[in-house]
Amino acid sequence: MVDVDKILIVGGGIAGLTLATALHAQGFAVDLIERNPTWQTLGAGIAVQPNAMRALRALELDGAVADRGMTLRHWGFCDRQGELLCEIDLQDFWNGVGPFIGIERARLQQALLIGVAAVPCRLGMSVIALLQDHDGVSICFSDGSRGRYDLVVGADGISSGVRELAFGANPPVGAGHIAWRAVVPMRPAKFSDLRFFFGDRCFFGLCPVGGGHTYGFGHVAEPHFHDDVRGRLARLRRRFDGFADSVQEFLAALECDEQVHCSTVEWVDQEEWHRGRVVLIGDAAHASSPMMGQGGGMAMEDAYVLAECLRSPDTVEAALDRYVTRRKPRVRWVQQESLAVSQIIGLPSETRDAALRTRGEEMFRHRFRPLIAPP
Ligand SMILES: Cc1cc2nc3c(=O)[nH]c(=O)nc-3n(C[C@H](O)[C@H](O)[C@H](O)COP(=O)(O)OP(=O)(O)OC[C@H]3O[C@@H](n4cnc5c(N)ncnc54)[C@H](O)[C@@H]3O)c2cc1C
Repeated sequence: MVDVDKILIVGGGIAGLTLATALHAQGFAVDLIERNPTWQTLGAGIAVQPNAMRALRALELDGAVADRGMTLRHWGFCDRQGELLCEIDLQDFWNGVGPFIGIERARLQQALLIGVAAVPCRLGMSVIALLQDHDGVSICFSDGSRGRYDLVVGADGISSGVRELAFGANPPVGAGHIAWRAVVPMRPAKFSDLRFFFGDRCFFGLCPVGGGHTYGFGHVAEPHFHDDVRGRLARLRRRFDGFADSVQEFLAALECDEQVHCSTVEWVDQEEWHRGRVVLIGDAAHASSPMMGQGGGMAMEDAYVLAECLRSPDTVEAALDRYVTRRKPRVRWVQQESLAVSQIIGLPSETRDAALRTRGEEMFRHRFRPLIAPP
């Protein structure tokens, strides 16, 4: 193992919890801090794709995730009215890599927390200053306490404070989209797969997430937009009026404005992922437009690969270099392809539907194929 004992992980989201599980299992002394005062998640549902489940399998967390979610067999692209344009058989495509799981975010977090039961986690805490020298990193925490670590990992998401403290300001960039998201405790009639319904400069997605619940997400190509909570549900229903029956059933099952989360979609273009003894993983390093549903998967793979690199007898610097070299091409691919999909939404409906009908499956295979190989 590298000559590292004490490791601080900043952020208890998908990346931080997965990494803490992996490093604790390897015998490192890990501290995790999370800014929220309680374990909570923003957002609604998420697809944990087979490559992500493979990373979780190595940590024995895949079963807990599968039990709390639902295995999906097909991914379909439809036109606005619900006519299927193309469909991918997920089991056939991923060829044994793992199941494709739809799950509520809160239930995914419950599953990941199992892995950190023995890791000291301090909630309601963040880092306000960070100073590194050749031997380690000195930290000032937001409660006034201090700490000294051999390695600090920024797993603190898209607006990472660690990124700013260690590498300088690099705010996220808008991807030109707005996303609404919600989960309802029902499943539209005869609905058991992941489906995207494309309209004019927008789409609505439906994803079963287990327990008879459904995750729905509406995306609109719109760079500058603020959606007040008040009146949000009525606006969402209006925006997707005339979409397929299953979308209408989902929208009808929503009861109040507060049930619907809305945010602009952003991504991070960060060249440097480690400096000295500070390293970034997950969205802190490379948040992406969510068009491939791979941001969480990339965060889990990052955690798995970083833990593996720290198992080697290298110096810290060499281990972190190896982590970056292994991860960057794959993550860049996902970022680039996700942005390419975003642009498809802006195409005239007829052109886009025709392209999906004739080449949709081929485009999907091209985009996801590099993720079949282990990270
Ligand atoms: C609309 C949308 C849909 C998506 N759908 C999917 C999908 O289907 N599948 C998929 O794989 N990915 C999806 N993603 C991407 C996925 O949500 C992210 O890539 C993933 O959550 C990244 O995990 P993370 O742990 O790096 O960051 P986060 O999940 O953001 O976690 C960061 C954690 O750090 C904490 N934190 C922040 N700042 C500090 C601080 N200063 N100090 C301490 N703690 C801090 C936060 O409170 C949070 O708990 C989607 C994203 C969006 C926007």
